[in-house]
Amino acid sequence: MTWFRKRKFTTLRPPSQRSRIPEGMWLKCSNCLEIITNKDWEENLKVCPRCGHHERIGARERIRQLVDPGSFEEYDAGLVSTDPLQFVDLKPYREHIEESRRKSGENDAIVCGMGRIETMPLSLGVMEFAFRGGSMGSVVGEKVARTLERGLEHRVPVLIVCASGGARMQEGILSLMQLAKTSALIARLGQAGLPYFVLLTHPSYAGIMASFGSLGDVILAEPEALIGFAGPRVIEQTIKQILPPGFQKSEFVQEHGFVDLVLPRKELRPTLARLMRFFGSEPATASETRPAETERASENSARIIESFGP
Ligand SMILES: [Zn+2]
Repeated sequence: MTWFRKRKFTTLRPPSQRSRIPEGMWLKCSNCLEIITNKDWEENLKVCPRCGHHERIGARERIRQLVDPGSFEEYDAGLVSTDPLQFVDLKPYREHIEESRRKSGENDAIVCGMGRIETMPLSLGVMEFAFRGGSMGSVVGEKVARTLERGLEHRVPVLIVCASGGARMQEGILSLMQLAKTSALIARLGQAGLPYFVLLTHPSYAGIMASFGSLGDVILAEPEALIGFAGPRVIEQTIKQILPPGFQKSEFVQEHGFVDLVLPRKELRPTLARLMRFFGSEPATASETRPAETERASENSARIIESFGP
């Protein structure tokens, strides 16, 4: 009758003696739940090696992945939104902005500057979805416009990486006026013979797709990114029809001719380099000194410039 003497419970060792998996070593793919080591995850640019799911990444990380290390110089970092309509929903718009600035660490929903890809200079802007869903108000519009103007000034290609739910309602008509402003500058870039590239990431919707998101000379997209003007639910309710499978996914949109290339994250940088060479980009010359750029960038970020109007 030895089982009578069998211990019923396992004695737990005190917490300090238990073996532990160090925190932050593993993570789980949000799509297929595969366990991946942090190192593999980072090396794979936050794409799941099992299912190919592209995890959303922030603007700064995107810039690190795309441009040559240490080549990015930020511009217009100090632009912040005013509250021209004195808008109040659940709370005043100004409080929403403050909260988003605190949470995202950015002053608005886009990070812009100059950088290099395989030593070829370009002007780029990368949208930050973590800041109010990447919505476009007067600051985003102004920063995109200035990014395009820098392309014209330096005669370099322009790249905008989109991630947005659309125009920012709290700025009303001023948000919508950014559509015309940015579109006009893209036309000027075209007249100057300079290429304009767009990268659509998940999600790219509404106001930006009615302007700079859809006007690229070459439009790239990440796999499975949702791209469109109105969301599928709104469309279904309006046309009272069931939408086809994969509707508004980047692959579907490419099939219908709106996107030129759907590329996995790892291929974005080499493809952009190839495109830049194709459109005549050349490596930066030694005379394009960095200190001047750095000075200008730091001067811009030290100063808070209030943006107003279109
Ligand atoms: Zn996965």
